[in-house]
Amino acid sequence: MTTYQEALKIVLEHINTLEIEEKPLGECLGQVLAEDIYSDYSLPLMDTSGPDGYAVRSADINGAGKNTPAVLDIIEIVRAGVMPKNKVTAGTVIRIMTGSIVPEGADCVVRFEDTDEPANKSGPNINNPTKVKIYVDQKSGTNVNKAGKNIKKGTLVLTKGCVIGPAQFSVLTTIGKNVVKVYRRPVIAVISTGDELIEPGQPLTPGKAYDCNTGTVKALVSHYGGIPKIYGIARDTKESLLATIRKGLSADAIITSGGVSKGDYDLVRLILEEAGKVFLARINMGPGASFAFGEYHVQSKGKTRIVPVFGLSGPPAGCMINFETMVRPALLKMLGFPNTDHLLIEAIAEDAMPEKRQMAFVCWTELRLVNNQYRVRFNLNSEKGPLFSLANTNSMTIVPIDGEVKAGDKVQVMPLNW
Ligand code: AMP
Ligand code: MG
Repeated sequence: MTTYQEALKIVLEHINTLEIEEKPLGECLGQVLAEDIYSDYSLPLMDTSGPDGYAVRSADINGAGKNTPAVLDIIEIVRAGVMPKNKVTAGTVIRIMTGSIVPEGADCVVRFEDTDEPANKSGPNINNPTKVKIYVDQKSGTNVNKAGKNIKKGTLVLTKGCVIGPAQFSVLTTIGKNVVKVYRRPVIAVISTGDELIEPGQPLTPGKAYDCNTGTVKALVSHYGGIPKIYGIARDTKESLLATIRKGLSADAIITSGGVSKGDYDLVRLILEEAGKVFLARINMGPGASFAFGEYHVQSKGKTRIVPVFGLSGPPAGCMINFETMVRPALLKMLGFPNTDHLLIEAIAEDAMPEKRQMAFVCWTELRLVNNQYRVRFNLNSEKGPLFSLANTNSMTIVPIDGEVKAGDKVQVMPLNW
C-alpha cells in the first residue's frame, strides 16, 4: 500500500500552479506574489522630522543647557504634508511636527521635551508662543530622517514567491503599489456523496447522517486560500454522481467525500476509471485510508482538459485528515506557495499511544506550551468517544507505521491554525 509520503508526491506531481493575475492589492491577502517588486520612490522623499519639535540650526544651540537655554524666534509652524514657506536663518526656528519636511537652513530637530513647551498638553499650544527656550546642544542631523532612509528608489522590496500577509500589504502600500501580480486562487468544487446524508436542520431519523463534510471541506478550502463552490449531495447511483461531478468540471479541482472504499455503492473510483485516470486508490495511513486521487478528462473542441479529483474518505475525521495531509499541499501549490510542507513542532508526549499499527496513525492532539516547553496530549477525552478528540484538538500528530508513543517521548506535531 502507498505510504503517506509517496501518496503526497504523486498528488503534487499532478498539480500545477495556476496562472498569474493582476489585481488590486486589497484583494490579494493570502495570495503569492508572481513578480519581484522594486520601489519607485526613495522614502522619505525628502528629509523629514522624527519627533514633534523645532527645526533649528545646530550652530544656534551650541552650548545650550538646562540653565543656559538658547532663546530663538519662532517664524512658522509646519504640519505634515505641507512644504515649509520659510528658511531657518540665524536666531530663528520653525515649529515642526513628526513626518513634516525639514525646512531649508535647519540641520536638526529639537524635541518639545527639550524645550519650554508645556508638558502633557493636548493638541496645539494655546499660548501661541513667539519665542522658544531650547535646553539642549545637538549635533547636525539629530532627529532628522534623511531622504531614502527607509528605502532607496530602485531597491528590491519583495521577491516573487512571497505570501502577501498584513506586513507585506503594509510595505507594498507604503511604496505606493496598489496593483500587483499574484497567482490566481483555485476554484474548488465540493461534492458530498451518500444516500444516507441529510442536511443539518432536519430531524435525524434511523439510518440517516448529517452531511458535515460539505461545510467542513468548504471551510478548509477557504481557510487555505481557495474559492469553494458547493454542488451538494450526490446520491449513490452512477447517474447522480456523474451528473454532479459534471456540474463541477468548470472548477480547477473537485473534492468529493465518501464513496471511495470497497462497498457496493462506492462509485467515485469507478467513474474516474471510466472518464479519466486513478492514481491513488488507498493510502497506508488512517483514519482516512480510503483516499482516492485521480483526474477527470474533459473533451472539448478536440482538446482534453484535465480536472484533478480528490476522493476523500466519508467519515468526517478521515475526510479532514485527507484534506490536511493531501489537499492542503495541493491547494498551496496551485496558489504558488514555494513550500507546501506542514509546520512541525517538536513536543514531549504527555501520555501514551501504545497500540502498534500496520499503518501510519493520525491522532488529533492538543499542543500546549508549559514552562517554555511544548507538550502534546494524545487522549483527548477519547474514553467518551472519538468525537471528543476532534472537539478538543488544535494539532495533528502522525505516529509512523509500527510506531508507538510513550509518555515522555519526543514527537513531531503539526499545529493547526484553523
Ligand atoms: P462511505 O465511504 O461513503 O461508505 O462513507 C463512510 C461513512 O462516512 C458512512 O458512515 C457515511 O455516513 C459517512 N459519511 C460519508 N459522507 C459524509 C458526510 N458528507 N458527512 C458526514 N458523514 C459522512
Ligand atoms: Mg457513502
